[in-house]
Amino acid sequence: MGQSMVAIVQEDCTGCDLCITHCPFEALLPLAINPEGRKHKKRPVVVVEEQCVGCLSCIGSCPTDALHEVSMPPNAQESPLMSPSPRPSTEHVRRWGDKKMRWA
Ligand code: SF4
Ligand code: SF4
Repeated sequence: MGQSMVAIVQEDCTGCDLCITHCPFEALLPLAINPEGRKHKKRPVVVVEEQCVGCLSCIGSCPTDALHEVSMPPNAQESPLMSPSPRPSTEHVRRWGDKKMRWA
């Protein structure tokens, strides 16, 4: 069994935020701004690749199936994890305290 990580199809992401609390590694975060021309009013959630460990805990949490598994090649040198995409500008998510998001 090879390694995995996840990706989000941005066109299918409504920005509902349901997946965020399913990630124990805070790798699912909302983009700081909603990209121009998006059909959804709310900004999407993105995968911060450098924080995703491929545990797949989040798979199944998305009501629109925007989250999907990406298989990694068996040879680590060929893996995109060796050169992750630049970290996107994301909002900070507060998980604890009154009216804050909590772990799923
Ligand atoms: S696969 Fe695991 S670490 Fe990666 S985004 Fe999903 S829950 Fe977080
Ligand atoms: S659960 Fe799906 S639609 Fe909602 S924010 Fe996460 S990826 Fe986007």
